[in-house]
Amino acid sequence: MIGLLWATAAGRRGCERLAAALPEPTRRYDGPLGEAVPRAFAECDRLVLFLATGAAVRLLAPLLAGKDTDPGVVTVDEAHTFAVALLGGHAGGANSLAGAVADVLGCAPVVTTATDSSGTPALDTLPYPVEGAVAAVTRALLDGSPVHLREDAIWPLPALPVIAHRPGTRGDAAPPGPAATAGSGTTWTGGAERFAPATAAAARPHQGPGASGDGRSPGPTAGGTAAGGDGGRPQEDAEPLVWVTDTVKPRAARTVFVRPPSLVVGVGASRGAGAAEVLGLVRESLAGASLSVRSVSALATADAKRDEPGIVAAAERLGVPLVTFGAAALARVAVPNPSDAPLRALGTPSVAEAAALLAARGGELVVEKRKSAMATVAVARRPPRGRLAVVGLGPGARDLMTPRAERELRAASVVVGLDQYVRQIEDLLRPGTRVLASGLGAEEERARTAVAEARAGHAVALIGSGDAGVYAMASPALAEAADDIDVVGVPGVTAALAAAALLGAPLGHDHVSISLSDLHTPWPVIERRVRAAAESDLVVTFYNPRSRGRDWQLPKALSILAGHRAPDTPVGVVRAASRPGERTVLTTLAGLDPDTVDMVTVVTVGNTATRTVAGRMVTPRGYRWQHNLAEEAE
Ligand code: SAH
Repeated sequence: MIGLLWATAAGRRGCERLAAALPEPTRRYDGPLGEAVPRAFAECDRLVLFLATGAAVRLLAPLLAGKDTDPGVVTVDEAHTFAVALLGGHAGGANSLAGAVADVLGCAPVVTTATDSSGTPALDTLPYPVEGAVAAVTRALLDGSPVHLREDAIWPLPALPVIAHRPGTRGDAAPPGPAATAGSGTTWTGGAERFAPATAAAARPHQGPGASGDGRSPGPTAGGTAAGGDGGRPQEDAEPLVWVTDTVKPRAARTVFVRPPSLVVGVGASRGAGAAEVLGLVRESLAGASLSVRSVSALATADAKRDEPGIVAAAERLGVPLVTFGAAALARVAVPNPSDAPLRALGTPSVAEAAALLAARGGELVVEKRKSAMATVAVARRPPRGRLAVVGLGPGARDLMTPRAERELRAASVVVGLDQYVRQIEDLLRPGTRVLASGLGAEEERARTAVAEARAGHAVALIGSGDAGVYAMASPALAEAADDIDVVGVPGVTAALAAAALLGAPLGHDHVSISLSDLHTPWPVIERRVRAAAESDLVVTFYNPRSRGRDWQLPKALSILAGHRAPDTPVGVVRAASRPGERTVLTTLAGLDPDTVDMVTVVTVGNTATRTVAGRMVTPRGYRWQHNLAEEAE
């Protein structure tokens, strides 16, 4: 709930606009601020105060309890010029609220949290729980001091800046490679480390999964202790350290622990077992093996126990989902401690161990079955799953890239793409992002590299212009990917749409895209599709229409369309849509000059109903559409 408070009429109007426009629920607090502010502070998780910052500080100061519990507070000045994230930038959500308020009111967001304003990822915004010396390590990251990263296993985390594993290499900007990683890592300083071999093939010997070239080689097994056993790596109390581990280690003054979602707890319980007993056994089992409860990603049990109140409540208290399996599936799992009781009651010799192993999908038991009076618990560790985001960057202009695409780029630790596209978005990447850029023609290699990096556990963004699934990287990558990684697609504005918006409304009725590149598709196949489009009167957008060595295909395709369409059929030629040098030409089938067409151009040919209206290309919605307005949804 977002609380809205004001002192003046202008403030009241601002609150009304926010209440109407913000997607989250809001509540307006009328009345004297001296009473309204404490009430809103107690009731809401975020506040917007239309009030000078000084007055806001005086009202809020006596209410402050701590940054984990205080609501985030944004103040807006009388003229609605600034939305200031005053309190609770990260934990309280004030930074993002300031952005949202600024969007609605058309004012400037003011964010002063160090990590946001410098582009450095705040440790408390990582996707997994973080504990330990967060402030000290954040300070070191901001100062650009060497901060070490140690990973018991590689989980798909965003890039972290200034990751050093070797002493004495600070400021060494050499790209990670076998020579640079003879120890257990390398030092990356400053912005996104650009590691751009001429081709992806050249990158592979350094970058394959399991190679140490990524500077993030897995450390010793999770059972390892904090001290020693790590070659040249310095003591973590001497140097700040970010340690990705599900194992509880001794606290150190300058160590942050990131808890990956690596553990699954299998639970069995007799009918009526209490939540306290189940939860107690879970905690005890984890503690006995020095495992962090914050790494528990799920509780697992038998289908028959899916409504058992003690188990359901334990999952709720831990804030994790409860997953269940049928007795037959559980019975098929080989477990170290089968027993007769569940076999008689449920038809499986194991619930806790079998459910933990099943939910861990190929993982291993790390705590064998432990029993209390009415419950059983076992813990399994699941293998990490890397994450591949296939991200469309849009046609070129930054404001035609989706916010989601931007978020995915910032969630990645590895970015794979064509060098010219990487350049386009380099400023968005988190410092420390590993960039694997390659030239034209290395598509399959890029796809393989991206999948291999994800398979190694990393958070990978594979980028492409327009939509990454349209004549681009998504299909070669997904043809390569198995079920062992998570894949997300982020759609982008494809060239045909960017061009259509410049031309008018050429795609108002059925349309098709055809690539005229016969490099990988035999020409007879392309020609058959052009003929089919011609015969079925589809609006056609040609991608890859013409290059220096490929110049007869476009005239040939146009002549096929001309067999079914009038010579004055409108044709739009759009070059470099939304990029520098953008050019839009509206011509006709008979009038098109192929010399205006190159490889950064799309050509859109109208159907028999397409018209030019006031210099714009318009394809009617349908011949009878005007009469059927009431029946058709727009
Ligand atoms: N994935 C891209 C298409 C890749 S195929 C997308 O969805 O847009 C490459 C072809 O796309 C180019 O030969 C050209 O025909 C077209 N193209 C890509 N970007 C373009 C732009 N900004 N303006 C015009 N055409 C573009």
